[in-house]
Amino acid sequence: MSGMWTLVLNCGSSSVKFALLNPASGEVRLSGLAERLGAPEASVRLERDGGRTTHALRGGAYAEAFDVLLAELEALGVRSEVSAVGHRVVHGGERFSAPARITSDVLDAIRACVPLAPLHNPANLSGIEAARAAFPGVPHVAVFDTAFHQTMPDVAYRYAVPEAWYTRHGVRRYGFHGTSHAFVAAEAAALLGRPLAELNLVTAHLGNGSSVCAVQGGRSVDTSMGLTPLEGLVMGTRSGDVDPGLHDYLARQSGLTLSEITAALNRESGLLGLSNLASDMRELEAAAAGGHAGARLAVDVFVYRLAKTVAGMAVALGRLDGLIFTGGIGENSATIRAATLRRLAVLGFEVDEEANAGAVRGQSGLITAGGVPALVVNTNEELSIARQTEEVLAQ
Ligand code: ADP
Repeated sequence: MSGMWTLVLNCGSSSVKFALLNPASGEVRLSGLAERLGAPEASVRLERDGGRTTHALRGGAYAEAFDVLLAELEALGVRSEVSAVGHRVVHGGERFSAPARITSDVLDAIRACVPLAPLHNPANLSGIEAARAAFPGVPHVAVFDTAFHQTMPDVAYRYAVPEAWYTRHGVRRYGFHGTSHAFVAAEAAALLGRPLAELNLVTAHLGNGSSVCAVQGGRSVDTSMGLTPLEGLVMGTRSGDVDPGLHDYLARQSGLTLSEITAALNRESGLLGLSNLASDMRELEAAAAGGHAGARLAVDVFVYRLAKTVAGMAVALGRLDGLIFTGGIGENSATIRAATLRRLAVLGFEVDEEANAGAVRGQSGLITAGGVPALVVNTNEELSIARQTEEVLAQ
């Protein structure tokens, strides 16, 4: 049988995350991660049948990683059954409100979005080029992190800045994590036993990067990330919202350059900056329980800002039918979920402590005892990308 498997690729500047899966059943045949590409210690880790193997690379970049992947597909006897390759692409600007089959026009449009995502889109493009060379006989599809949010109304996406900044330079809110927000909203509707089209949901994707989204009838109407993935919530190492006057003030006070300040807001801020200890929530929860004041503050600010942002999203929706927690923190941390719901009692949430404590990764479900439902839903971005890839090709 041919055409059973979709290969999903997420190419970073020095890494490729991949999964070979069946879009209909969700079965994963092979997955893995190539890391430190281009460096002497480059390696590929492959996972299949519950087992894990690691292969050293000779410092090559994407092409060498794809050679290992191809050899593995050959060994599994599924190379000829790969029907399509779906690529995660970070920024699709205003051009893409849906996934797109990759053509030279589409590549040009992704290239045109490079100024909006200077770290991510070039890596996505190089990955696509190498993957097209490695898998020449199958269609390739780009699935954009921003696409889901293209349904936001202008009141949600415009900044109150000079109009020409928007019309000439594209300064507006785009939003990210779209694949995850769309996926968990649909899963939540199924869990609630109601049509997605009738539901007003807030989805909270909480991982190393975090964002919330107001989803009305399956469409994004607002989200917390903006022009870049730096806006909004407190994240692992990203600050989230700060006063736009900070850059000028700090540059004058400290002598830091604009790009040094931006780098610090991306890499040394958030949970790491507040705690002066770690960016990892699990580590911070343990340290906070042990009395570390910085860790406690980091956790408290994270929760406070999250709750405030969720409450803001209720305004975008008018009526709130459910709140969904997902991502590494959302799926695993009962403490963060309970603290957030307590802060949100004003919106009518009543935590079910037992259900909340029992909801761990791999188990979706309700965690409230009454009032507005809150749910834990496991995100699956690879499966969502595989499905969107197949849908585009079926059209
Ligand atoms: P990414 O955004 O990179 O995909 P994840 O979605 O895997 O990351 O989320 C990573 C975050 O999830 C980290 O802060 C990690 O500490 C947190 N996390 C994972 N498991 C737990 C847990 N049991 N309790 C609290 N936080 C957790």
